[in-house]
Amino acid sequence: MGVKKICKLCPHRCNFNILSARGLCHLIGPNQLLMDNKIFIRRSNIELTGFFHFFPGHECLEISLPSCNLRCTFCEKERKSYSITSLTDLSKILEKENRKMIIVLDCSFSILPPPLINKIIELKHHYPCIYISHITNGFIEKERFIKLMRNFDALLVRFFGFSDLAYSRVSIAPRAWRYAAEITKTALENNIFLELSYTIIPGYNEEDYALFLRWLVSLKAFKIPLHIKRFYPRYLLKDKAPTRTKLLMEAFNKAKRMGFHYVYIDDIYEGKARNTYCPNDGSLLIRRVGYFVDALGITDSHCKKCGEKIPIKGEISSHNLKALFKVPGEKIEGWRG
Ligand code: SF4
Repeated sequence: MGVKKICKLCPHRCNFNILSARGLCHLIGPNQLLMDNKIFIRRSNIELTGFFHFFPGHECLEISLPSCNLRCTFCEKERKSYSITSLTDLSKILEKENRKMIIVLDCSFSILPPPLINKIIELKHHYPCIYISHITNGFIEKERFIKLMRNFDALLVRFFGFSDLAYSRVSIAPRAWRYAAEITKTALENNIFLELSYTIIPGYNEEDYALFLRWLVSLKAFKIPLHIKRFYPRYLLKDKAPTRTKLLMEAFNKAKRMGFHYVYIDDIYEGKARNTYCPNDGSLLIRRVGYFVDALGITDSHCKKCGEKIPIKGEISSHNLKALFKVPGEKIEGWRG
């Protein structure tokens, strides 16, 4: 009998003596190779990727893969606006940029295939002006995460429920939320700059939301930026209605009542649930309209009025929103909808 080939990149532990060419993620082949050597890449706004407290208002380079190890029933991996490139071309792209660059590794990178993550780390060493933020579903072995986490300047962990039942309804890994919780705890203990998101899927995971908040209270994680995300009907859940704004507002108010300082609803255009307020004196620190930000009341990560320290990493690229939106309906230069 030959030696068993088990992929140890994520907790699925695919056995390539049984599976043929690819693992459950559809990305990794035998010997932990990234199949097809293809990555997706696009310019984006950091807010569009999901970070509100990491280099607010900046442009970034978003990199992702065509699949993921959760294979969620509402994620089709639509990649219409991305261009496809290979790993070898990534360094050429960054060389051409020749300036400060924020790289966002998107959710599918929970797998973090060695050729890719090694390449990114190599580039970071070569170009110290590169900042790496990582969006993850958290379904990764803790030991592997510990080895990698020091390379990340910021981390966004995404939750889709807080029970085996909720995850079994939307993904192929019912226990993935436990891993995400463990990764969150480890990141907190190691002072990794962290943001969290919770996607509310009506009828699937609303009840878990209270458990999720109570767990964060037990960790005393009141200062973590917490994003509440809308579910959109896609892929196998095309017939489901999107999450109503009323439900998102209820979730927002609940988190605020429980004492969380920085709570946001990502999928609204503007309003109090998209702005940042000082937890000490209540003054408006950052106003967000779409993906524009206006740092009205904050300077050097402190409230201008009372001096309260705000957990923001990196300088803010601020716009004068009053000037930008002076003429209603006028096309705004640089706006990419
Ligand atoms: S990374 Fe892919 S191939 Fe490896 S264990 Fe996870 S799902 Fe399987």
